[in-house]
Amino acid sequence: MSKAIIISNRLPIKIVTKKNKNTLHHSEGGLATGLESVFKKSNDNIWVGWPGMVVKDTDAQLDIENQLAEMHLKPIFLSKKQVDGFYLGFSNATLWPIFHYATNYARYNDADWKIYQEVNEKFAEVIIPLVEDGDTIWIHDYHLLLLPRLIKEKCKNVSIGFFQHIPFPSFEIFRLIPWRKQLLDGMLGADLLGFHTIDDVNHFIDSASRLLDTTINSNVIFYKGEISSVDAFPMGIDFEKFNSKLPKLQATQKDVANLKRQFGDTKIVLSIDRLDYSKGILPRIHAFEQFLQKHSEYKGKVTLFMIVVPSRDSIYRYKELKDEIDKVVGDINARFRTLDWRPIEYFYQSFPVEYLSALYQMSDICLVTPMRDGMNLVCKEYVASRNEEDGVLILSEMAGSSRELGDALIVNPNDIGQIEEAIVAAIKMSPKEQQIRMVKMRQIIEKFNIVHWVKIFMEKLREVKKLQTSFK
Ligand code: UDP
Repeated sequence: MSKAIIISNRLPIKIVTKKNKNTLHHSEGGLATGLESVFKKSNDNIWVGWPGMVVKDTDAQLDIENQLAEMHLKPIFLSKKQVDGFYLGFSNATLWPIFHYATNYARYNDADWKIYQEVNEKFAEVIIPLVEDGDTIWIHDYHLLLLPRLIKEKCKNVSIGFFQHIPFPSFEIFRLIPWRKQLLDGMLGADLLGFHTIDDVNHFIDSASRLLDTTINSNVIFYKGEISSVDAFPMGIDFEKFNSKLPKLQATQKDVANLKRQFGDTKIVLSIDRLDYSKGILPRIHAFEQFLQKHSEYKGKVTLFMIVVPSRDSIYRYKELKDEIDKVVGDINARFRTLDWRPIEYFYQSFPVEYLSALYQMSDICLVTPMRDGMNLVCKEYVASRNEEDGVLILSEMAGSSRELGDALIVNPNDIGQIEEAIVAAIKMSPKEQQIRMVKMRQIIEKFNIVHWVKIFMEKLREVKKLQTSFK
């Protein structure tokens, strides 16, 4: 019986250490939920990845390995040096900025590249002995670009899928990376390569055609005597979770009641991101500042509720951004506040999903303005949570999700004046227009949900394998 092997940088768990004892908790990310539909189909399926912390002690490693085995998870343990060079270094200080068009933020460090190769090889060493003929292997994201090739070289009769959750940049940007050919060669070890949007697909094919000795026919790439197919699979969310399951929970209802008490008739503009320069947090705050400056009639009547989730704050660029956000928010609150109203309610922390659900339900406007985003799930979660079919989404045209959510108020995230005008338009939008837009967006999010996303990727992978056979 063939099995599925899912591979991602992080395993879908959190390790909590208390009194020298490690306990494991399932993390409930969107990807984990979606992949459950593949993963839970057979007890033979395995998920391989880094458990999220450096564990030096070999007894502790063995203990974690045994606990994970019961959940069909297989850990790859990384040293502190490997986490620094592979994760914080090459993945997040080279690939992440380049793939998000933040070219000035990218560093090209040969030592990081060597560790990136070493960690991809380490993943391959653990995975290859697990693979049997007929298995399906699904590799996720930019941390593991070399892995498809490393597996393909050793395992012949398998299906290898790769999905990239962040954008793929245009050739003129991608070519800046010194190791661009090796990266493409690694990726093309996959039988099927998936991206969120058609633009990402076209950028990838363009780079492959210019940098490698390939023959391209539409979405099919012939390279090294092999065939890979490239396609767009816009990732969805667990619609029912946000539409009905979370709103029914007592904890969520309590949070809704508290928010109602706290904000009364004040309109809430919601902003939720991880700390990241790609998310456009500072221009968004400046747009809100301009809104306050130009529309004093809304003083005391509109609040920006802004959550910034701590992320990668040991990387200098992230620390710098955090300091700047603190400064600008402090300045705006000091200038515009009244005795009983603060224009920006700012939190630098993460919240449980029940509280997010309450916020999504209570916010009149959701403001999502990334400079670049592979997809952006926050805006989809907002739409799914609006089960009364009201509320307004303001969405950056640079987010992958804007391809599906054309009924949002679409803005250029660099155009502060346009964002400010969109906030005013959203506040003034009639209930009827809110409903017309929201209903259409909800239909899309409901239909193209996360389970659908997994299903069509898997179907396409099977099709590609058939196509390959027809060429033999
Ligand atoms: N999120 C969360 N707790 C928080 C804030 C956000 O769990 O306090 C989740 C949110 O529900 C969403 C994810 O973080 O599922 C963010 O995904 P998105 O694609 O928008 O951005 P990413 O962080 O993956 O770049």
